[in-house]
Amino acid sequence: MTLHYHQEYQCVKCETYFLPFQSPVTVCPECGEPNLQAEDYRDIVKLLVDANAAHRQMYGRCTPPAYGIFSLVDHYIYYTATLFDTFIEQQTPRALLIEEAVADESAAWKEHLRELLYQVFEEAERQGLFKPIAENASSAPDPGSGEGN
Ligand SMILES: [Zn+2]
Repeated sequence: MTLHYHQEYQCVKCETYFLPFQSPVTVCPECGEPNLQAEDYRDIVKLLVDANAAHRQMYGRCTPPAYGIFSLVDHYIYYTATLFDTFIEQQTPRALLIEEAVADESAAWKEHLRELLYQVFEEAERQGLFKPIAENASSAPDPGSGEGN
């Protein structure tokens, strides 16, 4: 089962969809209006990392084999998953990956996404997301050990 969220957020002024990830205000990357951070976005960076960690545990990669995008938050989960997987599998330097990801955006979106991605990568590192997946590290030793030997 992949993780999905139903949060949507639109700029109070121009109704552009973006993630208000900064506290207390995130400037709308479309119109420049400062948007106050709503309570349910306080942990949005952590939520993105948690979803990726869960998917990696389930599927061995951050990007699930199939992932439907049903909300703005899902969109960002998928967006960060592809970057994390590239980072883990190809060991592309983080700064380069982020610059490539935002390359086609307008100046304001570049700034917005770059800051978001740096925060997400930092949180992922803090949580140990980039470490090799421990295989059954936490499971109890096989109770039937010795059996069949
Ligand atoms: Zn706006």
